[in-house]
Amino acid sequence: RPRVLSGIQPTADSFHLGNYLGAVRQWVALQDDHDAFYFVPDLHAITVEHDPATLADRTRNGVAQLLALGLDPDRCTVFVQSHVPEHSQLGWILGCLTGFGEASRMTQFKDKAAKQGSDRATVGLFTYPILQAADILLYHADRVPVGEDQRQHVELTRDLAQRFNSRFGKVLTVPEPHILAGTAKIYDLQDPTAKMSKSSSTPAGIVNLLDDPKVSAKKIRSAVTDAEREIRYDVAAKPGIANLLTIHSSFSGRTIPELEADYAGRGYGDLKKDLAEIVADFTAPLAKRVQAYMDDPAELDRVLARGATRARDVAGATLAAVHDKIGFLPPT
Ligand code: ATP
Ligand code: MG
Repeated sequence: RPRVLSGIQPTADSFHLGNYLGAVRQWVALQDDHDAFYFVPDLHAITVEHDPATLADRTRNGVAQLLALGLDPDRCTVFVQSHVPEHSQLGWILGCLTGFGEASRMTQFKDKAAKQGSDRATVGLFTYPILQAADILLYHADRVPVGEDQRQHVELTRDLAQRFNSRFGKVLTVPEPHILAGTAKIYDLQDPTAKMSKSSSTPAGIVNLLDDPKVSAKKIRSAVTDAEREIRYDVAAKPGIANLLTIHSSFSGRTIPELEADYAGRGYGDLKKDLAEIVADFTAPLAKRVQAYMDDPAELDRVLARGATRARDVAGATLAAVHDKIGFLPPT
């Protein structure tokens, strides 16, 4: 079975609609016919300023959300990144293969660094994509199911794998990005030209999976649209409406042309009201399922212990092969 690997950062108290539609929904689908590894990258989460008092809770809560969204620890491996030290170890080695200019071209770094001010952006934020390459390459992932914003990082991962293999001998699998057309980029409700993001969207711009339905209804009602009246999918001219149609379509299963026909002659208020209900139908039962996992920490610990063991088996073997090719003296 082909192998997939992906992760989601514990950088907020809740995942959002973009995380689900762009990434996690596919993870759930892929676990049936793939050997799947999914993890919560806490090492990545500290590349931006974080609160040590909440990181462990957010990490646990992230795992609980993944299980509540449908990951089944009997069909996939779920783990926490810092429980598998091989990630940092391979990250170092890959850093020694990455050009400074090459890393400087990563647009996510440029965006996140610009938001923080260049004095506050860390070297960890700069090397984030290299650690991500290590995440992927340790598991010989064939496919990496992510949103569009991660395409450049998967491309770097491919380059690093090919470079390693040609310089030192073939050890690493060159992965393919697995990015869904349609939902690969869900936009901020307040700024429908920017991606919805846990760490950089304003609260009003993000629909969190764990928001109370009344709160998400209000956010959807206040979503920025345009001065026209027509409900039509036009990303360039009407990015706000296009985004709402995308979210509607991916939850309701109706195609965009069907929705355009349904809403012909109706107002933006109708679309927003219906969308709020569709989103609430999905999120309302979710909060209860997440809470049930949070209320049973022993079970969550068992899932993570099993996940870390399986992950370390694979990651340890890859790292040993890499050390051998690099020419490190084996420990005695
Ligand atoms: P942060 O702002 O902390 O980077 P994030 O919202 O970008 O948080 P990540 O944990 O970085 O979330 O990414 C988890 C997964 O969700 C990745 O596969 C990413 O591509 C995907 N993703 C994130 N935002 C969106 C979005 N707006 N639309 C579609 N997919 C998204
Ligand atoms: Mg991100």
